[in-house]
Amino acid sequence: MATSAEGSVSARSKYEPVIGLEVHVQLLTATKIFCSCSTHFGDPPNSNVCPVCLGLPGALPVLNRKAVEFATLAAMALNCEIRETSIFARKNYFYPDLPKGYQISQYDKPLAEHGHIEITTTAGQKRIGITRVHLEEDAGKSLHEGFAGASDTTAIDLNRSGVPLIEIVSEPDIATPEEAYEYLTRLKEIILYTGVSDCNMEEGSLRCDANVSVRPRGQKKFGTKTEVKNVNSFRFIREALEYEIERQVELIESGGKVTQETRLYNSVEGKTYGMRSKEQAHDYRYFPEPDLLPLVVDEKWRGEIRATLPELPEARRKRLIADYGISAQDAHVLTLTKSMADQFESAAKAAKSPKRVANLVQSELMGRLKACGLPIEQSPISMKGVAEAADLLESQTISSKMLKDLFDLSFERGRDFPLVYEEAGRPAQSRDTSAIEKILDEVIAANPKQVEQYRAGKKTVAAFFVGQVMKLSKGQANPQLVNELVTKKLV
Ligand SMILES: [Zn+2]
Repeated sequence: MATSAEGSVSARSKYEPVIGLEVHVQLLTATKIFCSCSTHFGDPPNSNVCPVCLGLPGALPVLNRKAVEFATLAAMALNCEIRETSIFARKNYFYPDLPKGYQISQYDKPLAEHGHIEITTTAGQKRIGITRVHLEEDAGKSLHEGFAGASDTTAIDLNRSGVPLIEIVSEPDIATPEEAYEYLTRLKEIILYTGVSDCNMEEGSLRCDANVSVRPRGQKKFGTKTEVKNVNSFRFIREALEYEIERQVELIESGGKVTQETRLYNSVEGKTYGMRSKEQAHDYRYFPEPDLLPLVVDEKWRGEIRATLPELPEARRKRLIADYGISAQDAHVLTLTKSMADQFESAAKAAKSPKRVANLVQSELMGRLKACGLPIEQSPISMKGVAEAADLLESQTISSKMLKDLFDLSFERGRDFPLVYEEAGRPAQSRDTSAIEKILDEVIAANPKQVEQYRAGKKTVAAFFVGQVMKLSKGQANPQLVNELVTKKLV
């Protein structure tokens, strides 16, 4: 008899999830999209406001050129076609933190369309379509805690009102929560490489809504979707989708119907809850914004923006593998952030062996960082430091044991490798043949039994002599040289 867990797995396998993601990314402009108020995060509530972003009657919006350039650059990085003329539109709805009663967004003529991102799935590479990228302004924020009287009052902070956002809408090409996670990871990586946003989820610079439905496998028509809103980490998005897919399948299997609605995810319970039934898009009564001209990004301007597009992560990974002979895994780690990849490349160019630099990052740096819970950006050992260590190893000036000790010291003291190396008195392994020979002679004299065994054909005993000499030299002897001398002396 099937257990209920098996039953639920087999029910689930009859259905296919369909997922689409809407991601809002805050652009790193100094000022807001339609006024010159600061976008600085964390300022006292309502200190960065003016008649425009307060929505006072008669105030007119003026478009921020930098916001357009950032949005276009991001759209280009996402392989979108840029529309020469796009139109701002009013999206009308009431919300306490939306003083104008509408948000300026884009509707049927968005800035960019038809893009895509490549993701890696268990079945190989997959292309996820991007329907559109459009510009819009953020709303304000309702505060329910952190101020006097919060127990029975809601306060409004309009510092965020009018901050520039891009909304990136994916095609419903995402088939599993895992793919959603991968898509978001790649998307964030690309946006960070372009430098148009810091994608800081805690500060709300990147927010994600997920649309999800299920349908019987093979069916063309989409099932009824629900929208999971404002989940604040990629891991929670994946968990929320897993829960929501399970919930929808169980509902349909037990004869129920999925209601089209917005749901909130409670990460403590790992469950989604219905919030409000979703209005149709036309309920927003979109119409062209009469206070703004059509936005024209002509060929010349597009060319100027395209010229600032950096090499993107995927291309960079391929090039690092080809240029420096490093593995795909090394390339993956080394391109996690643009600054990391830049640092690696300048270190690799300066080092005698780029491959050794990459190896050291993997074998000696990442583990130590993980153990102290540090991101690579805060590593006490810089890429330049790793390069210097790699060169010392390459020239056999230090042994790998000495390198490990020096790296430990760097982490203990929170100081870069070159400094610690100086402080330790520039230690070097000994290549002084006569000094090593002297130690070896002592070891041979003290261990006649092992010498006999070696001479009787038990060649593995050589390792014993090497070990003894290394120990007596306090790890300073060059192991390769010791090896050669042992073989020579014991014949
Ligand atoms: Zn303002």
